[in-house]
Amino acid sequence: MIREIDLAFIKLHILYHAEKEEVYGLGLIEELGRHGYALGPGTLYPTLSKMERTGLLTSESRTVNHKQRKYYRITPDGTKQLAKVKAKIGELYREVVEGKDE
Ligand SMILES: [Zn+2]
Repeated sequence: MIREIDLAFIKLHILYHAEKEEVYGLGLIEELGRHGYALGPGTLYPTLSKMERTGLLTSESRTVNHKQRKYYRITPDGTKQLAKVKAKIGELYREVVEGKDE
């Protein structure tokens, strides 16, 4: 259960950051590490691929310092999904964290 929830939180972080700017694997691993998610490439890359296949992200490969790097951005559908989830997070927070059940 915790792993499933963590994965959902990780996906939300990815969507959030991909909406603000281009993201790439290693940068996300570092960013998520700062939030306490010990995430390896073996978990992150399949997650990014899946999010791309399901139309949430789009990617572009570019060469940086002689290395191929894949950059991801949110799609219009990803933006729509993120907005919906944000509303749900707000509601969940008010009930589960603040104890305000309306
Ligand atoms: Zn984050």
